[in-house]
Amino acid sequence: MSALTEQKPALYYNYVAGEWTESSSRELLESRNPATGELIGYSQKSTVHDIEQAIDSVCDVFQKSDWGYNPKRRYEALSALAQKIDQNLEHLARILTLEQGKTIRESRIELAGCVDTLKYFAGAARTVFGRSVQLEPANFGVIAKEPMGVVGLITPWNWPALLMIRELAPALAAGNGVIVKPASLTPAVSVEIFKLIDEIRHFPKGIVSIVTGPGKSIGAAMGTSKKIDMISFTGDTSTGRTIMELAASNIKKLALELGGKSPNVVFSDANLDKAIPLIGRSIFISAGQICMAGSRLLVHESVKDEVISRLKTYAENLKVGNGILESTDMGPLVSQNQLDMVEEYCEIGRREGKMISGGYRLTGGDYDRGYFFAPTIIDDLPANCRVVREEIFGPVLAVQSFSSEEEALALANDTDFGLSAGVWTTDLNRAMRMSKGIKAGTVWINTYNKNFPEAEFGGYKQSGLGRTRGIDGLMEYCETKHIHFEI
Ligand code: NAD
Repeated sequence: MSALTEQKPALYYNYVAGEWTESSSRELLESRNPATGELIGYSQKSTVHDIEQAIDSVCDVFQKSDWGYNPKRRYEALSALAQKIDQNLEHLARILTLEQGKTIRESRIELAGCVDTLKYFAGAARTVFGRSVQLEPANFGVIAKEPMGVVGLITPWNWPALLMIRELAPALAAGNGVIVKPASLTPAVSVEIFKLIDEIRHFPKGIVSIVTGPGKSIGAAMGTSKKIDMISFTGDTSTGRTIMELAASNIKKLALELGGKSPNVVFSDANLDKAIPLIGRSIFISAGQICMAGSRLLVHESVKDEVISRLKTYAENLKVGNGILESTDMGPLVSQNQLDMVEEYCEIGRREGKMISGGYRLTGGDYDRGYFFAPTIIDDLPANCRVVREEIFGPVLAVQSFSSEEEALALANDTDFGLSAGVWTTDLNRAMRMSKGIKAGTVWINTYNKNFPEAEFGGYKQSGLGRTRGIDGLMEYCETKHIHFEI
């Protein structure tokens, strides 16, 4: 135990049928602090048998309770959860930082996002209704919105609290039963949130479960289970592809929030004083481990030198360190695996382009205990370089330049991904043209990383299927039924 953590490793159980349960494997997974290597906690290494039991119990509660028919109850349950997370925000933020590594300031933002999302979907729970239509004389239809049934939620490690709540809130608001499988690197904050769920009497006992363990076994079992009506998956594009294959066996509905390789496009008339810190933040927040990271910089050749020089200063002034310290700007990568991958990409970048800043693991003193990497900027990369084309999920910015708007648009769209993009210009007509032309689910003009529960988010191309957040995000979790009356 160090002075910074001051807590014993916690033991986390599954939450199934409204009870805290051990896995039948009697095996545990370790969570370690990526900044120090310290043991933070243990979670259950659950088996396929455990997940099947959880699925059965959620199905049972969903069928027997009034949850799917009682929007006011859902509003009250989600409002109560918002309030409890708010009351415990500092405690949860600390656990999140200790387990995931992100800075404590980012963790507070993430938890505040959970509160906001729950409040929004609490209200939205009371707006889930369809419409009636006159179809012929004496014929009318009711187009009803119903819950999907039982939803399996598989979540990643990078924003483990918000990315769980971002899906859990609309899934519950729509009246579904839910089973959550969090990422094995970061189960703690999710299970801590379930401790709060357990205290809320408005939830029918057992309508929502959490089971921790390996994606390849229990996540895959969720994908193939006939008793699960829908899988909502957030994670890597290649895992998303696997889940599509698994779900194909029974044509299960999917919502997929996948990877990205998002560009920031900077024109010569951009307000650089505003752009530079936001572009820097877009790639270095969470050490680049964020799906919407602005990992490609496309800059007009006339301002390229200035933009690169100012971003280099931004990157080199960031204080990289243990995220639990209030003064830290960028925490470590989440694991040795992630660190190795980022190092490998930087080797490629060094060979094929020009290293402007960083490009190496930080070592010496406390750095040796964790997975710290220097904020990195690489210029002059060819368009087919893997650093330009693949999602790195680390603090690595790939720079390319352009000479015309047409070229900028072509470069922005020259990717298999389509999650988000930033456009920096003071020319409104150009901003409109670019926002129409870019194939991405979110286009920010003169800003970046602004997300709201009421605004839809999701991917074009290989960045996903369906939308999260907003009314479309709620409707993802509903079936539509036509009930026809002839009178
Ligand atoms: P990952 O795909 O490795 O894991 C995500 C989840 O899937 C984990 O819970 C994991 O245990 C589970 N899983 C792994 N193999 C599985 C299988 N065969 N069947 C079922 N489940 C399986 O992703 P990650 O490394 O945790 O997260 C990083 C990725 O997530 C990045 O690609 C990032 O861009 C993406 N992401 C996307 C969004 C978005 O909103 N679009 C948000 C955050 C992260």
